[in-house]
Amino acid sequence: MNFVSTRGRDSASFNEAVIRGLAADGGLFVPERLPDLSPHLKRWRGKPYVELAADFLSFFATDVSAGALYSCLSRAYAAFPVPPAPLVQLGDGLHVLELFHGPTLAFKDFALQLLGQFYGLHIHTTGRPLNILGATSGDTGSAAIHGMLEQPGAHSFILYPEGRIAELQERQIACTGSPRVHPLAVRGSFDDAQAIVKQIFGDVAFSAAHSLTAVNSINIARILAQCIYYLDAALKLNPLESDPVEFIVPTGNFGNVLAGWMLGKMGVPGLRFCVASNANAVVAEFFRSGVYRPGTVTPSLAPSMDIQQASNFERWLWWHFNGDSVRVCEALEAIRNRGVFSADTVVSPDIRATTCDDAGIRAQIARVYREHSYVADPHTACAFAAVRPGVRSVVLATAHPAKFPDTIQEATSINPVHPSLEALKGRPVVKQVLPAEVGAVRAAIEAVQK
Ligand SMILES: *Cc1c(COP(=O)(O)O)cnc(C)c1O
Repeated sequence: MNFVSTRGRDSASFNEAVIRGLAADGGLFVPERLPDLSPHLKRWRGKPYVELAADFLSFFATDVSAGALYSCLSRAYAAFPVPPAPLVQLGDGLHVLELFHGPTLAFKDFALQLLGQFYGLHIHTTGRPLNILGATSGDTGSAAIHGMLEQPGAHSFILYPEGRIAELQERQIACTGSPRVHPLAVRGSFDDAQAIVKQIFGDVAFSAAHSLTAVNSINIARILAQCIYYLDAALKLNPLESDPVEFIVPTGNFGNVLAGWMLGKMGVPGLRFCVASNANAVVAEFFRSGVYRPGTVTPSLAPSMDIQQASNFERWLWWHFNGDSVRVCEALEAIRNRGVFSADTVVSPDIRATTCDDAGIRAQIARVYREHSYVADPHTACAFAAVRPGVRSVVLATAHPAKFPDTIQEATSINPVHPSLEALKGRPVVKQVLPAEVGAVRAAIEAVQK
C-alpha cells in the first residue's frame, strides 16, 4: 500500500511512513486508498484480537512480512488482558469499550505499544540505532516510553513542563528505573517544551547524529492501530445500516475518533460517531456548525483533551476533499492566516458532537457511579455526557480512573487505585530539571553515552 501526504508532495511505503512520521512537505501520511473490508467481516467474527489485527493491518503494511507483523502485534499486546479492549455492558443498549488496560492505563498504549514494536523491527532489520524525542503534556510521553522500554539500545528523551503534569503522570515517566529513559523536566510550559523539540528536529545534522525520531500524535501507525478496537467491537455488536451503533469518543487531537470513522469508509456498516469534547470544543464546534476556529487552551479536569490545534483534523480534511491536496492546503492556509476555516458543504451526517465543561464532568462521574456503579475517569465522563436514551451506544473509556484520583474522590467519595500506580509511589523520581532552552536539552542528549 502506498501512503501519500495530505499536502500532495510526498509519498512513502508503510515502513517509511511509520519511521518518518511526518511527510517531507509537512503533511500527514494517509493510505492512498482504503480497502473494502465488507467481504471479510463474516469470517472475522470471533477471531482473537491479535489475529484480527494482523489480518486488518496486512491490507496496509504490505512491506512487512506476515510473520513479522504477527510477532510485532503479539508482543505489543502481550501486556494487555485478553481481550485487550473489553466491551462492558452497562444497560440496555449501553456499552463501554475499555481502552485503559495497557501498561500506562490510557488508550494511547494501543498505538504506542505497536509503534514501539515497529521501531524495534526497524532497528533489527537495518542494524541502525533509533532514539525517540518528544514533548508531552501527560499521557503520550509515558505511553511512548513504555512502548520503547524493551527495544534494544533505544533511548527515550521526553520533555514535559516541570510541575505542570499530574503527579502520577510524572511518576509513569520518571520512575521506570530504566537507564535508557531520560525524563527532561523543563521550567516552562508544554508549548515551550514542544518548541524546543521542533527546534532540535529543525537541526537535521544534530537529529541524524543522535538517530532521533519524533514521537507525536500524527504517526499513521497510531491511527491504524486504533482502527482495530473499533473493528473488534463492531464484530461483537454487529451494527447494520438499519440498526446502527454510535461510538461516543472523548476527543482532543481527533486521532481516536478519526480511526473509527475511517472504518466506516472501509465498508463496515452501521457505524455512527459522536465527538465528545471538554471545554476545548474546537472540533465539536466544527461538526456542529462547519466552522473550525482554534483559540487558546482552557485547562480542564480532562487534561489530555486540552487541545485547540487538532492535528489529525488535516487527515479528515483530505478525505472531505476527496484527496484534493490543493484544497487541503487552502483550508490550512485559511486557518493559519485568518484563524478560521468554514466548510461549504454539509459536514458529516455520521458525526455528532457534544461539549462537557468541568461542572459537567463532575456531574457525569457522580451520575454514572450512582446509576451504574461504574467509575468513569474525567475524559470518559465527557463521553457519558453525550449518551442518548434508546440509542445503541458505545462509550469509549480512554483512561483508568485511578490516574485522576482527586477528581474521582470529589465526585464519588471513593478512592480509585490501580496496583501499577501504587507500585510507582514507592519508587524514586529520576529526572533532570532544565531551563526551557534548546541548548540545555541538546547538552542533555549529547551527555548520554549510547
Ligand atoms: C489523548 C487522550 C484523549 C484524546 O484523544 P485524541 O485522539 O487526541 O482525540 C482522550 N482521553 C485520554 C485519556 C487521552 O489520553
